[in-house]
Amino acid sequence: DPVLLWLRRDLRLSDQAALTAAAAEGPVIPVYVLDDDTPKHRKMGAASRWWLHHSLRSLDASLRDKGSRLTLRQGKSGEVLAELARETGATRVHCLRHYEPWWRNAERAVAASLDLVCHDGNYLTPPGSVTTGAGQPYKIYTPFWRALNEHMPPPQPAPVPREIPAPEHWPKSEDLDDWGLLPTRPDWAGGFRKEWSPGEAGAAERLDDFIPKAAHYDIGRNLPSEESSSRLSPHLHFGEISPATVWHHAIRARGDATIFLKEIAWRDYAQNVILQYPDYGKTNGRAALDGLAWRSGKTADADLNAWKTGQTGYPIVDAGMRQLWATGWMHNRVRMIAASFLIKHLLIDWRIGEQWFWDTLVDADYASNSVNWQWTAGTGVDSNMFVRIMAPLTQSEKFDAGGYIREWVPELAGLGDDAIHDPDAFGRRPAVYPVKIIGHREARERALGAARQAK
Ligand code: FAD
Repeated sequence: DPVLLWLRRDLRLSDQAALTAAAAEGPVIPVYVLDDDTPKHRKMGAASRWWLHHSLRSLDASLRDKGSRLTLRQGKSGEVLAELARETGATRVHCLRHYEPWWRNAERAVAASLDLVCHDGNYLTPPGSVTTGAGQPYKIYTPFWRALNEHMPPPQPAPVPREIPAPEHWPKSEDLDDWGLLPTRPDWAGGFRKEWSPGEAGAAERLDDFIPKAAHYDIGRNLPSEESSSRLSPHLHFGEISPATVWHHAIRARGDATIFLKEIAWRDYAQNVILQYPDYGKTNGRAALDGLAWRSGKTADADLNAWKTGQTGYPIVDAGMRQLWATGWMHNRVRMIAASFLIKHLLIDWRIGEQWFWDTLVDADYASNSVNWQWTAGTGVDSNMFVRIMAPLTQSEKFDAGGYIREWVPELAGLGDDAIHDPDAFGRRPAVYPVKIIGHREARERALGAARQAK
């Protein structure tokens, strides 16, 4: 009998434990289920859907090279797989385990009628497995990293199986183009196409490009004007490359890769948090801040819109938000600045920002996104105090964001390194560029006042 290989965000052939196990058992039917019902409001955002389309295309091509192919179906994972099993005579399903609460529900639904075998492999260690001496999961990153490091390096990545046995008959597949994953009118994905090559080959290329730059990462990663980080995040999110593969390449690179590896470990940490707090995308990690008087109403909506469209009058924030819209990605330092700006300067609920990122990021990831938003907000289990307020103009100068701003806010391209961070202060603001939506000092006072009242 054939076995089903249930693919989700593990769209690769190499170091894919579920594929390796399935291929060793008999004919394999690889299947991707577009399931918007199980995650409900957490269904993939528009940028992720763009990525998914291309990643599935690429995976299907790689499978066909091996005499296999991808079967596409739409619906609730549990029902679709049960139906496909009836059609094909399969009784067993292999998959990689995923930790989003809806994926855990879907796994339970599949396991109710089929023999589901879950494997690990999208994290450095299985989330939940790194615990304190007393067997408790970690809440704080630094001790988590220390403990994780004891288990490193991860196992050597497994190669692509030499053969993927094919069934006698292929089940019917839906047509990817009918899924409507790509934008039509307007087509906002021009910048995405320029920036990204979704799929396993694209991921390997990104890694190859990055390795020679790894030695400079410690300093370069904080400088938005440079391309010094790996840009592997969407590839890692969709599982087009395994973190073990990234780890082993990085430790073979020249110099000490610790700082980079610590960032890769943040992914694991974030999963570890949502495993403990499945509602982390909507519930504060610190209940003390539940009473915070977030702004809402007409002016707050107008401010939110200015933030989304990169029209706040703070060049570093606007550059970041425009990069996000154009390419589906934003530099990490700028993500922190832009997120902090929404939460503290505009006093808008972090959950609203988290949703915008969810829809617009190609690397949108339930765990990483909610953990980083809560960290920035100061509402998280592992965060700064809410009252620590980032100064966007100082940050912009400190991390030398001039080049970055010139690229993404062309209205300011003519300004030099002095005036670019705060054109108003130099009397150099072009008429087409907005006045600051709120002054830094005023915003700071307002946020501090709200925090005092929440207590
Ligand atoms: P590199 O610096 O090259 O790091 C390598 C890899 O490590 C990344 O690809 C990523 O997988 C992981 N990583 C690095 N930093 C973090 C981090 N802080 N948290 C978790 N993983 C990390 N990252 C996402 O993958 N998805 C998200 O939805 C997401 N939302 C974010 C929201 C906010 C408000 C902030 C401040 C950060 C968010 N991040 C998110 C984390 C980080 O910004 C991105 O992972 C990083 O910018 C990706 O670029 P890179 O691949 O070049 O990273």
